[in-house]
Order: sequence, then C-alpha cells, then structure tokens
Amino acid sequence: MLTSGGLRAGTSAHACLYADAALARYGFPPGHPLGADRQAAFLKESERQGLLANVRMCAARSATAEEIGRFHTQGHIDKVKHAERDKLEFLDNGDTPVFPGVFEASSNVVGAALDGLERVMKGECDRSFQPIGGLHHAGRDHAAGFCVFNDLGVVIETLRSQYGIRRVAYVDIDVHHGDGIFYAYEEDADLAFADIHEDGRYLYPGSGREDETGKGAARGSKLNIALKPGSGDAEFLQAWPRVEQHLVRFEPEFIVFQCGADGLKDDPLAHLSYTPAVHAHAAKSLRAIATRFARGRLMAFGGGGYDRANLAKAWSAVLREIS
Ligand SMILES: [Zn+2]
Repeated sequence: MLTSGGLRAGTSAHACLYADAALARYGFPPGHPLGADRQAAFLKESERQGLLANVRMCAARSATAEEIGRFHTQGHIDKVKHAERDKLEFLDNGDTPVFPGVFEASSNVVGAALDGLERVMKGECDRSFQPIGGLHHAGRDHAAGFCVFNDLGVVIETLRSQYGIRRVAYVDIDVHHGDGIFYAYEEDADLAFADIHEDGRYLYPGSGREDETGKGAARGSKLNIALKPGSGDAEFLQAWPRVEQHLVRFEPEFIVFQCGADGLKDDPLAHLSYTPAVHAHAAKSLRAIATRFARGRLMAFGGGGYDRANLAKAWSAVLREIS
C-alpha cells in the first residue's frame, strides 16, 4: 500500500491525512460497490502524483461508545455492536450488510475523524482529509446507504459539546443527498448545510428538493441544489457560487466537507458526469472560505465513489488543494 512519503512527527503540516489499515477495514464483502479496496486505490494515485510528501500521515483510533453516542442513539450503537452475535444479515433494508468486524471498523471511521478534529483544534494542522469516512446517510437511530455510523454527525456534535463551537458549515458534493445530516439538523439554525446532488427523483435517497431549506427558526439555513441526470462540470460550476454565498452569509467557525466521488462520469451507481476539476474547485473554494471565517479549520471526508479510477483522481485533487 503506502511505501513512502509523509512528514515526520514534529514537522509542521497544513494537512493531516487519515488512511491506514484500520480504516481500510471499513468495506463490504466482494460484489458490494463499497469494497475494502477503495482507500488503496486513492493512496496509489496520490503517491503517484507526489502528494503524500506534503501531508502528515496520521493513524486512526477507535471511537468509544460515549463518543459515538454524541450523535447516535444507544439503541443503534447496541444493534451494530451485537449484529454479528445476533446473526443479522443487514443493518438496514438491504443496502448495508453486516460484515466481520463491522462494529470495530465503523468505530475506527469515527475515531479517525475525532483524532483529526483534535489535531485541527489544537492547531497541529489546519485541515484534514479522511477518504474512508463521510458516511452521510446514517441517521441518529439507524444505518442506511452503506453508512453504519455517521462520522460527520459525531464531529458536529463533538465541536459543540467538547470545543464550544456552534456555527458549523456542512458542505456535501457527493452525488447522493446527505440525508443523515440534513434531517438531523433540519431545525438547527446553527448548522449551515449546502448540498449539490443528483435530483432525488432519479436517485437514492430521494430527498434534497430545493424547497427543503430548513424548518422553523432554521428556515433558510439549508441549501439543496438538485442537478438533472447527465449534468457535468458546467452545471456544477454554475451552481457553486450559491454555495459560496450561503457560507459567506453564515460566517462559519468550522467547515465539514463531504467530497463523495460518485458524481464523476461513469460511476456505476449514479448518472452525473463531473470530472475531478469539480473536486479541485470545491476544495480550493472551501479552503479560502475557511481561511476567511474559520481560522482555516476544514475537515474533508471521502464519502461515496464506486469507480476506483474516478475516486482516486477526485480525492487526490482534494488532497492537492488542501495540503
Ligand atoms: Zn454517494
């Protein structure tokens, strides 16, 4: 897998990268689109591009049940913990199978995110990237769409309960709507949400209409932009300034970025036709907004992406822009 590169501890780095064996365990059995080989595909490409020399390679850790419980219900945590013992086949209605070590692997995804958050808050790095993460479909009380625990939600809750940071911006360019985050914070005015995705009339999970802008006091804090099937870079770049304006108006203290690569052309699960230029553009823009409003604090997570060559290029583009 990784043969060289990475800054030594003590060397200052703009970005921390979480991509190790513990995270590679989060993958479903052969035949499932989210296999355990995605991280290695990304690492191979980012090393080929010489990107790993500029980042600090960090190790994942396991999250505790208390940490996972900042976002998830105890019932959901217990269901995952005992899924193998209870011989469950799926954690949801058929998308998210139980696999050997599912609880540990899912806890590693959350633990890596929290380790990255700690380093960013301590100023050890300004930004972090975790390709195996960004599990945006999991809700507080359930798994969904290949997502067991929602690492993004745990980061948001941890920012609030442990670091006293309330005004968080969540930006999602995965081809699927980030419903696990959207519905958890639909009535929360302090969570700015911006999501460009394929129109839910054509794609899972079906939500994310443009008139879904938040409820009650949170009305207007959520921006959903739904693209027609076949849309590509031109449509994305035309929509992106609305995301920028949404964030600038909100003045976030911290930015969480889910940069799923499944909007790229020929992804086996979706119907958009981005190139990696979309990921580069979004990452560069968010880096600038984080520098302006959030002391540079930006965490990026890989999310979906099922064509290995596509995800390797899109995530390498993100890493290049934030390191
Ligand atoms: Zn997706």
